[in-house]
Amino acid sequence: MNNLEVMTAILQKIKEYDRIMLFRHVRNDGDCVGSTKGLKEIIRCTWPEKEVYLIDEDTAKYLEFLGPEDVPVPDEYYTTALGIVLDTASEARISNRKYTLCKELIKIDHHIPLENYGDLIWVEEHRSSLCEMIVKFYDTFREELVLSTQAATYLYTGMVTDSGRFKYSDVTGDTLRYAAILLDAGVDTDTLYARLYLEAFEYLKFKAYIYEKMQVTENGVAYIVVDREMQQQFGLSLEQASAVIGNLDSIRGCICWIAFIESGDEEGTIRVRLRSRFVHINSIAEQYRGGGHACASGATVYSMEEVHSLLADADAHVKEYKSTHEGWL
Ligand code: AMP
Repeated sequence: MNNLEVMTAILQKIKEYDRIMLFRHVRNDGDCVGSTKGLKEIIRCTWPEKEVYLIDEDTAKYLEFLGPEDVPVPDEYYTTALGIVLDTASEARISNRKYTLCKELIKIDHHIPLENYGDLIWVEEHRSSLCEMIVKFYDTFREELVLSTQAATYLYTGMVTDSGRFKYSDVTGDTLRYAAILLDAGVDTDTLYARLYLEAFEYLKFKAYIYEKMQVTENGVAYIVVDREMQQQFGLSLEQASAVIGNLDSIRGCICWIAFIESGDEEGTIRVRLRSRFVHINSIAEQYRGGGHACASGATVYSMEEVHSLLADADAHVKEYKSTHEGWL
């Protein structure tokens, strides 16, 4: 099936079912929250008689302004429902594990596919966000579907957060054309950007500390280890500690940057967030229990030895890239 045929089949399935359950990935972010809420709102406005549920772990703090999720429902609700999983490459990362109970399952994703699951699969890995795919879906069937300002706001939030405010290299003409559809639907960007950008005074102090502590490997991998002590010193949640990755992204010559966040659990889990420009780093993440996109991946390590080993691999990878390519900055 080509993409249009899969989208048509997905629309058909949505029409067929009276009850739809939406799913997304663990450690939710703007894109998986925005796309699930956006699709839910489109379905709700188009077919008010249908039941649509989004039952999940708590939304990340910085996205709480998008509103709460639905309260849990009995298992029987799932067994007659259509399940749609958004923005999640592998089954292991689906946050609400009850997805297996659904009568049929659809996967919609924009990550590099690590595995296939679901009865229908629509993956466009070149898309800058899953929200972009949902707007494409809306645009393709716009005669039949309803896009409210609320749905547009959810989807725009996902688009801007997953594309680094339309900055990353996977942003295309399509991305902006789809964003334009959302702006036309009345998104209040002033309020949205204020909600996304404003930071507490204490957090800026933490940022200053990060700039002081960050390091660079021989060939230009910038990195920071946010250990438990640092998190306690600044009173940071894991989510706030994880956000440090965004502070390492503008160092000339550092085309790869990595944050290691100690979780403090019994297994000694260290969350790894990898980002890059020009060079692709998903292969490094895949060597350390992870995956993701070419220039934005995640992984997990369990010791400082593994931190150093991952850094050595990333450094060698960047060295090889720099020696065989020109034009990187
Ligand atoms: P993060 O740094 O957690 O925001 O992850 C960056 C991207 O990689 C996101 O699109 C994640 O969905 C994806 N990702 C993170 N961790 C993993 C993993 N363990 N396996 C596969 N993909 C991942």
